[in-house]
Amino acid sequence: MEKVIKQLVDLQSIDNQLDKLRAKRGDLPERLKKLESQSTLILTNITDDKARIREINKDLKHLSAEIEDVKVQLEKYKNQLYLVTTNKEYDALQHEMDAIKETINTNENTIIESEDEKIELEEAVKRNSISSENIIRDLTKSKSDLENAMINTIDEEQRLEPLREKLAASVDKGLLFTYERFRKARRGRGIVRIHRDSCGSCFNQLPPQTAIEVKKMESLISCPNCGMLLYSEE
Ligand SMILES: [Zn+2]
Repeated sequence: MEKVIKQLVDLQSIDNQLDKLRAKRGDLPERLKKLESQSTLILTNITDDKARIREINKDLKHLSAEIEDVKVQLEKYKNQLYLVTTNKEYDALQHEMDAIKETINTNENTIIESEDEKIELEEAVKRNSISSENIIRDLTKSKSDLENAMINTIDEEQRLEPLREKLAASVDKGLLFTYERFRKARRGRGIVRIHRDSCGSCFNQLPPQTAIEVKKMESLISCPNCGMLLYSEE
């Protein structure tokens, strides 16, 4: 029986190593994906902000040109004021001039608002460009980490897998089934070592007779509390 227990303990040791390798790699693709989506989001923001800045520049040009145009018109009306002969004509001119002043006022206010928006956008672009550079740097590093992890873990995995297979094939089928069932249910653990006569899985103190039997290694003993297969290194 000692041999059977030893086989399971060895199997557990290989499985622990394989689990560790797979866990190491498991996290990296997730991290890469996150960085990639962050990078895409920031680049989209930069593109959108730059497009908005171009639009604002166009509007600013248009608003300034319009102000210049109406100012010319305003000058013309001012000169005409000296030539009018009736109050009605005077009022009509004054009315036109007020409308022009209103246009200039509105345009100037819009220009101020647009320039404020432009400054904010330009700052956002600057900030996002720095973030983007950092993310791209992280991304490059994570990619090479992943490649290295893949190389390292795959080598190690390919070394361990045939060992695992060979060992599993030599273990009694019923026992292997119990071991696998526990591994699935107990976060990868199919057989546990007892610590100071306590179960290494549920940590309950074993009855003295059970602890003695585990140490004897004459038969495979399960924890009376949680059912886990037990072994002792004493
Ligand atoms: Zn237990």
